[in-house]
Amino acid sequence: MPSIQQLPAHVADRIAAGEVVERPASVVKELVENSIDAGASAVAVELRRGGMGLIRVTDNGCGIAPEELPTAFLRHATSKLRKPEDLGSIGTLGFRGEALAAISAVSRVEIRTRRREDPMGAVLRLEGGAPGAVEESGAPEGTAILVRDLFFNTPARLKFMKKDSAETAAAAGLMQHLALSHPEVSFKFIKDGAEALHTPGDGRLDSAIYAALGRDFARSLIPVKGGGDGVAVSGFVTRPLQGRGSRGMQVFFVNGRFIKSQLLTAALEEGYRNQIMKGRFPGCVLAVEMPAEAVDVNVHPAKTVVKFAREKAVFDAVYYTVLDCLAERGGPVPAPPPAEAGKTANPRGDFFQSMDARTYREREAKPAARKAEGSPSPPAWNTERGGPRLSDSVPPPKSWAPAPPEERTPERREAGPPPGLGRPAEKRPPARERPFVPAIPQMGAELPGQKTLERPREAPWRVAGEVLRTYIVCESEDGCVFLIDKHAAHERINFDRMKAALEPPMRQALLTPAAVELGREDASLLLENLPLLEEFGFSCEDFGGGSVLVREVPADMDAADVTAVLEEIAGKLRSGRSAEERREGLLHTMACKAAIKGGWKSSPEELRALVEKVQSGEVKYCPHGRPVAVRLTKYELEKMFKRA
Ligand code: ADP
Ligand code: MG
Repeated sequence: MPSIQQLPAHVADRIAAGEVVERPASVVKELVENSIDAGASAVAVELRRGGMGLIRVTDNGCGIAPEELPTAFLRHATSKLRKPEDLGSIGTLGFRGEALAAISAVSRVEIRTRRREDPMGAVLRLEGGAPGAVEESGAPEGTAILVRDLFFNTPARLKFMKKDSAETAAAAGLMQHLALSHPEVSFKFIKDGAEALHTPGDGRLDSAIYAALGRDFARSLIPVKGGGDGVAVSGFVTRPLQGRGSRGMQVFFVNGRFIKSQLLTAALEEGYRNQIMKGRFPGCVLAVEMPAEAVDVNVHPAKTVVKFAREKAVFDAVYYTVLDCLAERGGPVPAPPPAEAGKTANPRGDFFQSMDARTYREREAKPAARKAEGSPSPPAWNTERGGPRLSDSVPPPKSWAPAPPEERTPERREAGPPPGLGRPAEKRPPARERPFVPAIPQMGAELPGQKTLERPREAPWRVAGEVLRTYIVCESEDGCVFLIDKHAAHERINFDRMKAALEPPMRQALLTPAAVELGREDASLLLENLPLLEEFGFSCEDFGGGSVLVREVPADMDAADVTAVLEEIAGKLRSGRSAEERREGLLHTMACKAAIKGGWKSSPEELRALVEKVQSGEVKYCPHGRPVAVRLTKYELEKMFKRA
């Protein structure tokens, strides 16, 4: 049996080094974090051949005293004072006094440094951790560390290195995250001689986003701020209409650390529910702050995964911050949706019934006024006025507040962690040509042609008319032309009204109850959900043999559609996993059924009422996330006609 020996120090160092120094990006991370700790306001990182050729990190921080230079490279050497209570979290903070030791153990390092107060700087070279002599040298204020021949003495590690391009991409992603989490520091990233990133370091997150993630993304953002219950949330999120094709642009920081979290992703996306188009994803740069003890960062320094002590508080803080902010700041309106091929007349003539029930009842109390407006009388017997008040027995609508995270949209949570930001140069001009742009004062400002439809302080828009029996044309006082998709707008109004469910829906009793053939499966689905159907204004009972007998339907749907509507509802009930999802499905169906359709002829009153809702900013997207209105400025029109 061999005797027990202590490993020679240089061997132990090499083993330990593998933990800190996995790949070039981890070297960059440790060195840049040291620069930030040293109070640098500018940090430049240069990489050749994915870092396998060379890594150079230069800062203008406090520098190191010549006599302390060798000490800095000893294991467990650190100048960063810590209170005893910090000790527990040393591993998570990455202050372990071993980065320089670990890096120098597996490479050839040259460090050149000068403190502001010293007339001369110093230089030290190390090879495989073995230091040479400290020499006096001229040097700019700050520290420059040059790392060459990484893993030259650990061939096993060297073998596992990915292609240079993969290493460069990893480092580029890291630089983006560092830049976004430290807007107060100006970062420069140079790969193989070309500048790939340069942030202004003006302390503004919007400037950092612009520089790190590109102009187009920066312009699609609106600021958010909020939180509660010990969790603060701030940053930027994309406007709903500027959703992205993937989750690649969802960037989260928890207490300043870049992390990936399905919980945060789910909370963010929940905030966009019914506002973003299917298959599109919101982007964001969100900082989530909470007491250090409320979050458990995986002890491995390179890991980007955290565990929250109070998941619900974190979820709610992000969700409500996003939701509130989107409700307030709304969004722009880019391209018009495709026109709906449609019928030629509104078969119902009952637009006002689909306003809220109270308005309708008030109108009913003034029949003379109705006559004067020329509205036709309601198409069926209104149970609210004379018939059996079935709706009294309907349980009050449940709250529409979001379910706790566990119950929500599992497919989102199972979709895996959002991919990182490994897409650095997409759609941008080559790095060298990209102008360096400092602060962007108008972050969150409107794009040309994409004005947020805010609360009106302006005169009512003039309704010029309707085209293609689908789009309302109006004009604002300040000379803009708006096109409103009447079906989309009305669908949204219905959706919000039904969702708020302040009053039970009005019903119409069918003159002859309809026996609807649905097949056994669908029929039993509906019969199992009778209370839910009641809530939406349907009164049904079992008719046997896969049929359902319908006595009443919501007043604002076309009674002739009852079979098709019930079939659609059965589909929603089948696909809804939770009660919440099934209710939401019905809400979509009924909002759509109660809406005037493109292709129908609408009365001037209908058009007017829709325009008011859109102008007030109450209505921005249809429940499927399509825009309800587009705006054309006078200038844009003039450009089309070559007047401008
Ligand atoms: P830690 O960062 O945990 O203290 P490191 O091995 O990364 O351990 O660094 C060791 C020490 O070297 C630091 O505590 C600091 O005093 C000094 N140091 C490292 N990098 C810099 C730098 N860029 N500027 C000034 N001092 C530095
Ligand atoms: Mg360090």
